[in-house]
Amino acid sequence: MGFSIILKKLFFFFIILQLCTIPTFSAFHVISSENIFAPFQTVSSAPYEYHTYDSMTLLLNNLSQAHPDIMRLTSIGTTYEGRDIWMVKLSENVTRDDDEPSVLFMGAHHGDEKPSFEVLIFFINYIIDTYQMNSIDDDGDEYSDESPECKRVRDILNTTQIYIIPMVNPDGVEYGWRKNREPNYGANGQSTNITSYGVDLNRNYGYMWNIVYLFPENYFLEYLLNDQSWIYRGEAPFSEKETQAVKRFIENHDISISLSYHDYGEFMIFPWMHTSRHTPHESLYRSIGANMSNINNYELKIYGQYGEREYIIPRYQGTPGSSENWLYGEHGILAFTMELCRRRPERNPSLVLDACEKHVEVNLYICERAQTIEQEKHMKESKISKGLFFDRALFHNFLNV
Ligand SMILES: [Zn+2]
Repeated sequence: MGFSIILKKLFFFFIILQLCTIPTFSAFHVISSENIFAPFQTVSSAPYEYHTYDSMTLLLNNLSQAHPDIMRLTSIGTTYEGRDIWMVKLSENVTRDDDEPSVLFMGAHHGDEKPSFEVLIFFINYIIDTYQMNSIDDDGDEYSDESPECKRVRDILNTTQIYIIPMVNPDGVEYGWRKNREPNYGANGQSTNITSYGVDLNRNYGYMWNIVYLFPENYFLEYLLNDQSWIYRGEAPFSEKETQAVKRFIENHDISISLSYHDYGEFMIFPWMHTSRHTPHESLYRSIGANMSNINNYELKIYGQYGEREYIIPRYQGTPGSSENWLYGEHGILAFTMELCRRRPERNPSLVLDACEKHVEVNLYICERAQTIEQEKHMKESKISKGLFFDRALFHNFLNV
């Protein structure tokens, strides 16, 4: 037992050493050897021009005013610095909340992941432009000469409510960093002075919030609880205005499936994210993930459950507090993380546009698949487990390391 404790300490020491010796660690969204040791690449082409918060706001205002029949723009809340968190709804009869399947796309939980909102702005433009081509068809023949692409978009708008929050964290986007901009007064609010700024919003959602205390090494507790860290998770679940806004929205809408865009790495993950256990919807997740992977060629990260081997420690080093875990765990919404692009920040215009185009197809697929998701959820899977606190795999690991 003494030897195994030493091994455990050595493992922890090694992890911490890794984090400390890689100065840019905190900028990474995920912690993995492939990302940490990715070779530096130089990009010679001109920088891609990303939208700013203001240019996006202007664009969305103009589009919603020009297309009030299919696009509605609302604010779901404001940030610490007072910016509106914009929500775009796309659907026919857009002002009415229908009983149609609803999908949610989110971008920029992390402000320095610009491709994550760019793909959604591109998608909004694509839907509007393609739908608009239909209205050119005014010869009275009821769309008989419309293209398959136009018909597809019209069918989706007729049957689906598409909700898009392109920038969950506009303050972070404007400041050019990962976290939001709320001042911290010590990690627990214990200081009278400002000690740092910002919370990692994708660690602030309130699902399995306390599990990190049980397995501090697996969850990088030291970083989650340090207000100076890039993955500081905040004083409490939903302590931040941005996550509160998303929470309010989710509680008032019936969403079936969700994609949250991040970068980078060109892969997809899905719950659980606090454990290597599978959810009761593992096969459904794999099915949707495999279809998305066929479109974008990204890797669908599959993790083994206890007994299957692969990963015993929490999925992807464990990201408790992620939006996906909460969306699924609390609301039964099938939720994926999509990590765009090979490197971050991606400034090669052709690569960013390539990601935008590929993910139009991914988003359309999600809208179409949403039509059957609720039936599929109930077909062969049992009710959603809450993800046991005393996770067998984790407990096993804890006892044996
Ligand atoms: Zn991210």
